[in-house]
Amino acid sequence: MKKDITFCPNDAVANVVGVDVSMNYLITATDSKNKTLFIGGRHIKNKKAKFQRTRKSLQQRQTPSSRRRLKRIGNRENRWQNDLNHQTAKALVEFTDKSSLIVLEDLSGIRISTERVKRNNRYYSVSWAFADLRRNIEYKAKLAGIQTLAVDPKYISQRCPRCGHTDKSNRSKKLHTFKCNSCGYTTNDDRVGSLNLRQIGIEYRHAVSSQAGS
Ligand SMILES: [Zn+2]
Repeated sequence: MKKDITFCPNDAVANVVGVDVSMNYLITATDSKNKTLFIGGRHIKNKKAKFQRTRKSLQQRQTPSSRRRLKRIGNRENRWQNDLNHQTAKALVEFTDKSSLIVLEDLSGIRISTERVKRNNRYYSVSWAFADLRRNIEYKAKLAGIQTLAVDPKYISQRCPRCGHTDKSNRSKKLHTFKCNSCGYTTNDDRVGSLNLRQIGIEYRHAVSSQAGS
């Protein structure tokens, strides 16, 4: 686990917020009171797929005007994505109390995440700039006096937050659901990610405060 955050002994972090990022919901955040915030969803994926479809048809035309339009559409898409990342990070920070700890997945190895989205009976590959979203969150959190922690995302979507049973088949990527094979706990798959990230944050906080106390 990363040790890039140092806590003072009397540095009371009351609230821990686990934040899962994905193409389905850009953000799924669960706080210590079990309040969950979902941001984004289907309409973002559909708009992404629409941009992708327009780009594809322009690429096939290969005329000077289609190339110009392609560039304009690319710029428009980037502006829309950057603005949405900005708004999403802002909403997350507003959801989070001051003196909280936000726990994010360390996606440093992943620049862009892609998913296949069905639109008008065809599949389109859509991607999102998650690294940019994370930078936005870290920056805005810092300004608001909220600490952030990036952790290894291994097993966070496979582990049951209730009993700890970890199995790939607990999660249905297709249905976006999580159902534990051992205890039967059922919820949205992105929410499971946020619950597990929150748990890692709570354990991290205990480890740091017991270190500080000894
Ligand atoms: Zn379970």
